[in-house]
Amino acid sequence: MTRIKASITAGIRPCAMVFHEQPDKSWTEMDFKLLEAYQQLQDEICPSCGQPVWLCRSTSPNISWSVHETTCQYTKAVEEKKWRLDHKKGSPKKEDRASWGRIFYATPQVPSYLGDDVKLPTREEFYQNG
Ligand SMILES: [Zn+2]
Repeated sequence: MTRIKASITAGIRPCAMVFHEQPDKSWTEMDFKLLEAYQQLQDEICPSCGQPVWLCRSTSPNISWSVHETTCQYTKAVEEKKWRLDHKKGSPKKEDRASWGRIFYATPQVPSYLGDDVKLPTREEFYQNG
């Protein structure tokens, strides 16, 4: 994905980046297929959550979402600076500090009670089941 994205940024054919070929050759059938596949994947990313739509919009019982928490230190520093500008004196409350830079995100997984043989639904299954 990174190499195809880089080829788009550089304005060269995808195979030149993927296989480190010279970019001055004519586009091949593989170049067109790679670009089309890349665009299709981009078009299937949910604008709300950034996951593939065939996972985040699936109602399959084979998916559960684990929610994780992390801290964006950049955002935390900016939010702390804003707080200090808004509050000329005093100290921030513990709740204020705890929310600065806090990020929640989720990852899909097969519920453990289904066993190791069950896999996440595929893109193909999502489109077949509508
Ligand atoms: Zn989504």
